[in-house]
Amino acid sequence: MRTLKDLDPRGKRVLVRVDFNVPIQDGKVQDETRIQESLPTLRYLLEGGASLVLLSHLGRPKGHDPKYSLAPVGEALGRHLPGVRFVPHSPGSEEAQKAVRDLSPGEVALLENVRFEPGEEKNDPELSARYARLGEAFVLDAFGSAHRAHASVVGVARLLPAYAGFLMEREVRALTRLLQDPERPYAVVLGGAKVSDKIGVIESLLPRIDRLLVGGAMAFTFLKALGGEVGRSLVEEDRLDLARDLLGRAEALGVRVYLPEDVVAAERIEPGVDTRVYPARAIPVPYMGLDIGPKTQELFREALRGVRTAFWNGPMGVFEVPPFDQGTLAVGRALAGLEGAFTVVGGGDSVSAVNRLGLKDRFGHVSTGGGASLEFLEKGTLPGLEVLK
Ligand code: ADP
Ligand code: MG
Repeated sequence: MRTLKDLDPRGKRVLVRVDFNVPIQDGKVQDETRIQESLPTLRYLLEGGASLVLLSHLGRPKGHDPKYSLAPVGEALGRHLPGVRFVPHSPGSEEAQKAVRDLSPGEVALLENVRFEPGEEKNDPELSARYARLGEAFVLDAFGSAHRAHASVVGVARLLPAYAGFLMEREVRALTRLLQDPERPYAVVLGGAKVSDKIGVIESLLPRIDRLLVGGAMAFTFLKALGGEVGRSLVEEDRLDLARDLLGRAEALGVRVYLPEDVVAAERIEPGVDTRVYPARAIPVPYMGLDIGPKTQELFREALRGVRTAFWNGPMGVFEVPPFDQGTLAVGRALAGLEGAFTVVGGGDSVSAVNRLGLKDRFGHVSTGGGASLEFLEKGTLPGLEVLK
């Protein structure tokens, strides 16, 4: 993978694909994490004497839609970097070309949302060629988009000398440690909504790990596959065979699987609703399991004892709605407290849970890429990485 160390930025206009897909409300950026994550790369290039043209997507607009403008991001970025100018034109347009033509070293132009371009997600070669005229070198630092074969990620990278930014490098290094020679014992904690979303990751990691802890809604498909009564908990009925198969494979590989013993259940998902604790395999209708219970918290803490490598994806319950955040908090704390272990969190909701619980700094790595980190763990590479080789 070519990195920034292979690029002499002096006097160059460098096109940088960043991930500024941040939450925006009333024209204000609500969480600047992704902007801050990009700063090391941007500062390095500016200090090296480059001018910068920035590309990013924001949300999922269908064509040009002012609701998805990057203008608020331009404002937020301007507070961190001097010399930032927001260019209110689609990045494939003539106007965008003109606006970047006379950038001086130290100046930064943030162009409008790449998804305003109809060819972006189709990886249109003609659009990629227009992007390529915006700069003399291309830096990919949008790890969270690196699993997308889109024009601003993959298409343009084939047309310019292309390099990985620092964020990209850091992500790849950390996630590679989960795949290559991980220190053992190695535990994976999975939760969240569906087994079907995570099959690829489970299959990739199962042969590498010692312990698999399963919580969240996903656990009920496993519990039901084992003959449990799970009330009205979320179950993927069409994945019961898959769940049995995965358990069989885990056993054959000598992976110890930990499933919930008890759950916190309610009739509705509502803040402060009446809750009851039930055995995980005997939940009566109309109750549904919405978090792991106290015994399971203890079981999971025990299961994590002595672990040297851990990957966590998927909350243990409906963490967005208290009191169903307690299991996620307990597991987050257990992972955060592991001495001398390499701990990684990945996944959109898992990372927002970790941030909300204030545990971010206590993990070895918090991946900024939701889908991208899972796809990397599944395949060991991403479309956006292949073009940097
Ligand atoms: P990630 O984005 O980290 O990969 P997922 O998207 O797979 O995680 O899962 C997160 C969602 O799973 C959250 O919205 C959470 O409310 C939901 N969830 C977790 N446990 C349960 C449960 N027991 N019942 C229903 N939903 C759950
Ligand atoms: Mg999610």
